[in-house]
Amino acid sequence: MCLFCKIALHEIPSTTVYEDDDILAFLDINPVTKGHTLIIPKQHYENLVDCPNELFAKMHNVARSLTLHYDSVLNPAGYNYLSNTNEAAGQSIFHVHLHLIPRYDENDGLILRFNSPESAKLDEATKLLLKQK
Ligand code: AMP
Ligand code: ZN
Repeated sequence: MCLFCKIALHEIPSTTVYEDDDILAFLDINPVTKGHTLIIPKQHYENLVDCPNELFAKMHNVARSLTLHYDSVLNPAGYNYLSNTNEAAGQSIFHVHLHLIPRYDENDGLILRFNSPESAKLDEATKLLLKQK
């Protein structure tokens, strides 16, 4: 059983901030900013593609309601919502999770930079291929 499955079952302690039959939200053990929270389905799915839409929607509903709640408690200036999928994207726990990261200013713990290198630009043929039929 994976670490987050054990957290979902309360076999491993966590600081829970929200819980219902399907979803658990708890504070990240190594927060990048104050209030850094992880939102997971209790059932094990490795990543977003495996997770049923309905459950994914529930995770986002919890992210929304926690945002409104944290606004009144922590008063951050903004939020990032992140889901790292696969090792190449920084996923280290292979149980789908949404990071809810309150943001305070550009010098807080999260550095997120959109560099836009030339190498990321697509030719016209590839752009056409990306359109879903
Ligand atoms: P990721 O790298 O996107 O897979 O995120 C995994 C996150 O889980 C990291 O931010 C870790 O700090 C966090 N984490 C690992 N173990 C625990 C734990 N026992 N309780 C709470 N958060 C944890
Ligand atoms: Zn799991």
